[in-house]
Amino acid sequence: MSRSAHPAGPRHADVYPEGHYTAPATDLNELDAKVWSRTVTRDEDGALTVGGMEVARLAEEFGTPAYFLDESDFRARCRAWADAFGAEADVFYAGKAFLSRAVVRWLQEEGLNLDVCSGGELATALDAGMPAERIAFHGNNKTVAEIERAVEAGVGRIVLDSFQEIARVAHIAQRAGTRQRVQIRVTVGVEAHTHEFIATAHEDQKFGIALADGQAAEAVRRALTLDGLELIGIHSHIGSQIFDMAGFEVSARRVVQLLAEIRDEHGVELPEIDLGGGLGIAYTSEDDPREPHEIAKALSDIVTRECESAGLRTPRISVEPGRAIVGPTAFTLYEVGTIKPLEGLRTYVSVDGGMSDNIRTALYDAEYSVALVSRSSEAEPMLVRVVGKHCESGDIVVKDAFLPADLAPGDLIAVPATGAYCRSMASNYNHALRPPVVAVRDGQARVIVRRETEEDLLRLDVG
Ligand SMILES: *Cc1c(COP(=O)(O)O)cnc(C)c1O
Repeated sequence: MSRSAHPAGPRHADVYPEGHYTAPATDLNELDAKVWSRTVTRDEDGALTVGGMEVARLAEEFGTPAYFLDESDFRARCRAWADAFGAEADVFYAGKAFLSRAVVRWLQEEGLNLDVCSGGELATALDAGMPAERIAFHGNNKTVAEIERAVEAGVGRIVLDSFQEIARVAHIAQRAGTRQRVQIRVTVGVEAHTHEFIATAHEDQKFGIALADGQAAEAVRRALTLDGLELIGIHSHIGSQIFDMAGFEVSARRVVQLLAEIRDEHGVELPEIDLGGGLGIAYTSEDDPREPHEIAKALSDIVTRECESAGLRTPRISVEPGRAIVGPTAFTLYEVGTIKPLEGLRTYVSVDGGMSDNIRTALYDAEYSVALVSRSSEAEPMLVRVVGKHCESGDIVVKDAFLPADLAPGDLIAVPATGAYCRSMASNYNHALRPPVVAVRDGQARVIVRRETEEDLLRLDVG
């Protein structure tokens, strides 16, 4: 088997205008290790295997569509992040990317902490035995009931996102007779996405409290006076799918600047800063993500340098990768149903899932790769659009890609890097039954989230 360059497919439709396009130079049977989880290979018959199990067997046992999660890869990524940041920092896995009880147990075993941002995520974390002190609670509009639950459980930190919430959490903690450890989420005026970041004028969004007009300093002033709160630090999260560290650099500099102002005004040096998540992964061969140790070094260098120049003790750093841990560890397996060649345009390949199991393409114009995985093929590449079975023309899974021209109904195709924000954003549109998540490891496959059934749907419909 080989794991070299996999054709990414064109990034934009206009690269391959109607009627003529350039087929990729690489062999469609080759798998790019960047976009597939670590134990994925092809066996001698050309069928894809993960965790030592062949996809046709997995499809037979678990059906399609289904997400297959490479458990040893997930654990290895957790360890890589934990090792890279070491004992002087904390890694919080962002549960919204994908959360289940099995994942919570893996995180505990691999020494990670956990971010939650709703009562449901908190319930999952606690039910699976995550110690409350290792949980951080996020969100721009936590309900009173959610805050009460988090305070009662004793979560390690609540990240405060508004003035109302500062008062609300203080009140609830005081009533419960505790002091809740909190951070204040600030917006540093940086928004980063993929290869770009914009360093000004991005306060126009719902999260956090702006640094720019002194709002964040005022939030700190209030938090420091309230008995129910123990302010442990400042939090900043600048975006998603980021490759360029420059946005983090600006963010860290501005957060450290605020720490210096807090010291000058209040005589306290806050012990922690959280730089959020948002680190990018490879969805196609054109993406070049950084390794956790490079990210850790870059962040700790920036913070250390900025603190030295501000005369501050270096605070404890935390980070919150979600996508970067779980994203690369899973692929979605689909069966091809219909194939429609549109003369002079492209071929539409319909699969048995779609926007109900992967909304990212419709929502953000996300790029994905795709491969024929039930067999190898020597056929010519054909330009395809992989679409779902939903009643929506925007129901696209992979916008532009190449698959072999002998693709046929019944073939299995897989879309890699669907571990993050696919199952967690899945819907029941058209009364679709949300697919299972199957963990595969060392020749064993285990359902960790089962497939929905029609009974599940009908149970909620109480007539
Ligand atoms: C979404 C989010 C994350 C995780 O983002 P990824 O892109 O999955 O790494 C981390 N922290 C906060 C506050 C978030 O909202």
